Amino acid sequence: MTGSKHEPQVALVTGASSGIGAATATRLRAAGYTVHALARRADRLEALASNTGCVPHVLDVREHQQLVELAESIGPVDVLVNNAGLARMDARLADTPIEDLVTTVDTNVTAAMVAARAVLPAMIERKRGHIVNIGSMAGLYPVAAASYGASKGAVHLLSLNLRLELTGTGVRVTEINPGRVSTEFYDVAVTDPERRSTLKDSGVDEVTADEVADAIMYAVSVPRHVNINRIELQPTEQTYGGSQFDQVDWSDQ
Ligand code: NDP
Repeated sequence: MTGSKHEPQVALVTGASSGIGAATATRLRAAGYTVHALARRADRLEALASNTGCVPHVLDVREHQQLVELAESIGPVDVLVNNAGLARMDARLADTPIEDLVTTVDTNVTAAMVAARAVLPAMIERKRGHIVNIGSMAGLYPVAAASYGASKGAVHLLSLNLRLELTGTGVRVTEINPGRVSTEFYDVAVTDPERRSTLKDSGVDEVTADEVADAIMYAVSVPRHVNINRIELQPTEQTYGGSQFDQVDWSDQ
């Protein structure tokens, strides 16, 4: 655990209304944490709260000032799980509306930095705390999802650089890098039903949100002198890398 054995632990989980965030909030509650669960969908948060005892906070992480005020109002946080995130995959970067690019970076990157900024002073002061950033395999290896990959690449460097900045403080930083996880991610990422079902149906046995939550619980549960820097997990049937060949039709030139 982050602190001593008998002290109550406080966690703040962003994007807790579904998928990995909801599973993580549930796991943390089961482990005895007071869990502040944050997202925009009030009905989902209420259901989570009544099932698990989480404290629900209806908030858009892009509202930076509100995010800071919330973090300050709940007092010292032991574990921040920066999980709220999305992709907009309706088109390649060349055709993506500018607004979608801004939303992606604001949600995946800026909000994670703002949340960390809000909780870190108390963590440093208390010499205890843990920032868990949900990155992605798309932040480590090339994928044909340029804006999403760029945002998760930023989360990767944020995690590495924070770890360096926080050396000697007792505050831990972990990056979780999932591959394909079975969640509502593609329901948000793709609006065209046909394209969505093509992208969503990977045809492989996907990692579950609970399995990602288990990885997070491992990282936060090891003794405080151990920092789990990074965990990559993906379906056995999925991999990364490889070179691609695709011919260009230059016959009209
Ligand atoms: P889901 O779509 O199931 O969950 C995303 C969560 O983020 C929801 O709770 C959503 O809540 C929340 N969220 C999105 N935008 C905001 C916002 N502006 N303010 C507050 N909360 C927000 O997908 P996942 O569980 O899969 O995604 C969780 C994380 O895992 C993301 O960072 C994603 O990038 C990452 N990831 C997912 C992978 C996958 O294959 N599923 C693979 C690798 C990484 P609400 O809409 O209620 O606000």
